[in-house]
Amino acid sequence: MKGQTLAELFERSFDLVGVIRADRYMSEAAKSQKAIPNPPYPAMVVLGLAYPKRELNHSKTHLVPSFYTFGNDYHLILHNRIDNVMKDLPYAYWAGVDNHQHDERLAARLAGLGFFGKNQLIINEIYGSYIFLAIAFVDVSLESEHILGVNDGCGGCSVCIKACPANALSEQGYEQERCISHFNQSKQPLTDREIRLNHSLFGCDVCQVVCPKNKEKGKLTHPEFKSSGKEKVAVDDLFKLSNSAFNDKYGDMAYAWRGKTILMRNALTLLLKQKNPQYNDLIEQSIKTHQASWYVKTAKKILRKLRTYEKL
Ligand code: SF4
Ligand code: SF4
Repeated sequence: MKGQTLAELFERSFDLVGVIRADRYMSEAAKSQKAIPNPPYPAMVVLGLAYPKRELNHSKTHLVPSFYTFGNDYHLILHNRIDNVMKDLPYAYWAGVDNHQHDERLAARLAGLGFFGKNQLIINEIYGSYIFLAIAFVDVSLESEHILGVNDGCGGCSVCIKACPANALSEQGYEQERCISHFNQSKQPLTDREIRLNHSLFGCDVCQVVCPKNKEKGKLTHPEFKSSGKEKVAVDDLFKLSNSAFNDKYGDMAYAWRGKTILMRNALTLLLKQKNPQYNDLIEQSIKTHQASWYVKTAKKILRKLRTYEKL
């Protein structure tokens, strides 16, 4: 099959579509010495779907995650779109959206969806970096590939490097351990540095919001990403609802996929920034009832500081 033909089928459901041979992806991945599983099928479809930029602020009662998690959960949206295309084709396939061991950004670069920015994101000339990526390996042998053109790059720009609040970016690359989006999605106790730096309920948008390649980008073009009303999370819900009740209410939001406890821990850092002691008794209660030691350790440390604001 021609990569062009396979691409045409996916273009009805995705903004960006490239098709490459899986063995080319594997040989590039081998150069980076990343441990990547063998592709199950010989053709690799690389997909991009644009999402909108939104800006909301924390309040004393509601906290805000990164805007890429707004609207319906993108994992499900992209999976559904892939399944809908593949259901009419006679080929076996395997699809992945975000939570898997393959390197979507490498695949996106090879398929020409965009260039690899110094902020570690794939940047496309039409959509900027506001694109969700997905891949699908398809059991078909390719006569030819379908690669989109990329003729851009960061050049001498270093805006994101200067703007990163955690000094995680440099001309030499990226230090994942320093990155706010990495540590606020990890199930671990937060260090004093991490508590001080964290500014979001989940994720971090700084290095893409400041990027000049994103100017005028980030329009709402797909209805699934419309705001659902659950973009702000009530602090009461975090500390009063059971895990299953929280999941019933917020489980269809992408920020919920790592569970409620991680959001509670991140919320503590935001309450501390606000010098907001109004949830102290609920936090105290959560320390008594929660099993995760990484949560309890962080909560005890922050609650000690929040107690000092009670008397002010
Ligand atoms: S996500 Fe935030 S902390 Fe991580 S590199 Fe970008 S700006 Fe820095
Ligand atoms: S801010 Fe500048 S250096 Fe950073 S990704 Fe955008 S264009 Fe590249």
